[in-house]
Formats: sequence, structure tokens, C-alpha cells
Amino acid sequence: MFKDRIIIPACFQKRILRQLHRGHPGIDKMKTVARCRVYWPGIDEDITSFVHQCHACARAAKSPVKTTLESWPTTTAPMDRTHIDIAGPCDGTYYFVIVSSYSKWLEVLQVSNIASSMMITKLSELFSRHGYCKQLVSDNGTQFISAEFQTFIKSRGI
Ligand SMILES: [Zn+2]
Repeated sequence: MFKDRIIIPACFQKRILRQLHRGHPGIDKMKTVARCRVYWPGIDEDITSFVHQCHACARAAKSPVKTTLESWPTTTAPMDRTHIDIAGPCDGTYYFVIVSSYSKWLEVLQVSNIASSMMITKLSELFSRHGYCKQLVSDNGTQFISAEFQTFIKSRGI
């Protein structure tokens, strides 16, 4: 024994490394587990080189960092926030999709083109019925970031 740790003879060290690496926990986690159970001179270096030789760990290290998903804040009034997007083409037709985040009220409008002017016309119709929304959310498609569209929404305080 070395304090509370079992000293592992050389012939079993590889097997212990494989056990410590079960589930590919990474170098730090392996060292933490090893430090309260097993010991041999140079165990930390052996853990490091063992993980560096693992193809699965190397592949996982190369994949991009996953960003955490965040939900939109909850809205408290019908026209607080409206989400817009374009679907299609479906059989040569586009659909302008508008959803209220508060009520989930959905409008799907068939449109002959997806230019900024068409989006403005359709939103103007919607706003004339429901009032202006405070916030408009899109995927920043070209028709939604155009100067024409930006002028339209800014002049309405959106
Ligand atoms: Zn691994």
C-alpha cells in the first residue's frame, strides 16, 4: 500500500489504465480516481500518454465545442415578440410564416416572391389588424436585413 492506494505491479498497470479509462472520462478525471485508489511510480504520466493514444478521445477533442441552447425570454403580451421566416419553395410557392411568441398565433401567407417589399406589404397587413409588435425575430435572411426592411421596422419602433 502507498497510504490508501494499492501499489499496482507493472504487469497489471495496463489493465488498470484500461479500467480507469472506461467511458473515456479524460485525463483529469482518471487522475482523480487513480489518486484515491491506485499507485505506481509515474502513474500520472502513464495516464496522460494512455489518453493521448486513445483514438476516440482524439476524435472527441477535435469536434467543436457545443454551445448551450438558450430559450427566448417569456413574453407577457400578445404583440411583444413576433417570429418570422420563409418556408419553401413548395411546388414553386413560398410561404411567409409569422408566429406570435405569446399566443403562438400563426399566420402562413402564400407569397409570389420573397423580396423585402413583399415582406413589408404582408407585415403591414398584419400590423393593421393586430398593432405593431415590439420585437421582430428573423434568421437575418437578406430580405430582412435590407435597408428597405430595416427602415420599415425602425420607423415603426420595432
Ligand atoms: Zn478515450
